[in-house]
Amino acid sequence: MADGALYAPSIIRNGLLGEALALLGIEGIGVRHIDVHAHAIGVGDGGTGCWANPRTRWGLGLLCRMARPRSAGRAPSQDQRWAQLLRATADGATCVDHVVVLALDAVHDAAGRRLFDPTSLFIPNDYVFRLCGEHPKFLPGASVHPDRRDALEELHRVAERGAVLIKWLPNAQQIDPADARLTPFYRALVALGLPLLSHLGHEYSLGRSGQHLGDPRRLRRALEEGVTVIGAHCASAGLADDGRENFLHFVDVARRYPNLYGDLSALTLMNRWRYLRRILREEGLLPQLLNGTDYPLPPCGLCFAREVGARRAWSLARIPNLFERDHAIKRAMGVPGEVFARGYQVLPVARSLQRLRRSA
Ligand SMILES: [Zn+2]
Repeated sequence: MADGALYAPSIIRNGLLGEALALLGIEGIGVRHIDVHAHAIGVGDGGTGCWANPRTRWGLGLLCRMARPRSAGRAPSQDQRWAQLLRATADGATCVDHVVVLALDAVHDAAGRRLFDPTSLFIPNDYVFRLCGEHPKFLPGASVHPDRRDALEELHRVAERGAVLIKWLPNAQQIDPADARLTPFYRALVALGLPLLSHLGHEYSLGRSGQHLGDPRRLRRALEEGVTVIGAHCASAGLADDGRENFLHFVDVARRYPNLYGDLSALTLMNRWRYLRRILREEGLLPQLLNGTDYPLPPCGLCFAREVGARRAWSLARIPNLFERDHAIKRAMGVPGEVFARGYQVLPVARSLQRLRRSA
């Protein structure tokens, strides 16, 4: 199909017909665009239940300023400002139809205790459901630490409320995806039809203590159990313990397991942009790619000056809306339209929309 032909007119994409297609579960025809990886942020000053470690707060404040909250207005609490910013950015992005907004569970030890000291950021599932109930573009990405005593009950609860996936950040949450104790968790994910979005490769924002936990090979147990896994960032950072790039391990594992996908989140950022071209050139990988942004981390248009030309890179860098900027850079780099739509095939979007509507 010709590039661009995947996008139907907005009356179809955004109107009643688009809704009907979604409810029939046939969004995968490629007329829409879903971002499978955007973060809810909060520090807990607005009764949201969020919590940020003092180590993390400074960076979050800086990020909030970089994300240009002008259109978000001036709410009394930082959490309200973050929520306003997310809504305003989504409202201003005509390129995206749905955004998966991610929770982030706290670190738990093997006895099931919640540990705040090693936790960088805690975004509760109920807060994400609240945000998703307030905006038609938002879909809930829940986070459940598998060492929680109520992990399986929580999986059932969030699936029932309309979660479209479960998010892990193993390096920061201290989760070992290869742990044999996780088999019941993986089987529950399969039974509930919930994909697992798991960070792959090294992590630089929210904790670096467990970088080996981002090794793509550690996901083989989940993949063998039949879990649909989305590897965040296609493992585009760091070396595994054998000295080989995590990204190359990701490619090997993806070739072996068709139920492993890779998202393109953060690949327009200053520290990962070099991987975008490599990923697009990797033979046979395209059908396993889907799009994400890693909002609110800011895409860097100027990084692509050699690839797209200085003038175009300058104009990309000046796009104020983070969703629009990420999308424009990726289109300029030749990411095909089908990648932006693939999340509709992989995630239970129609079911989520029904359940969100039911509990509204
Ligand atoms: Zn992320």
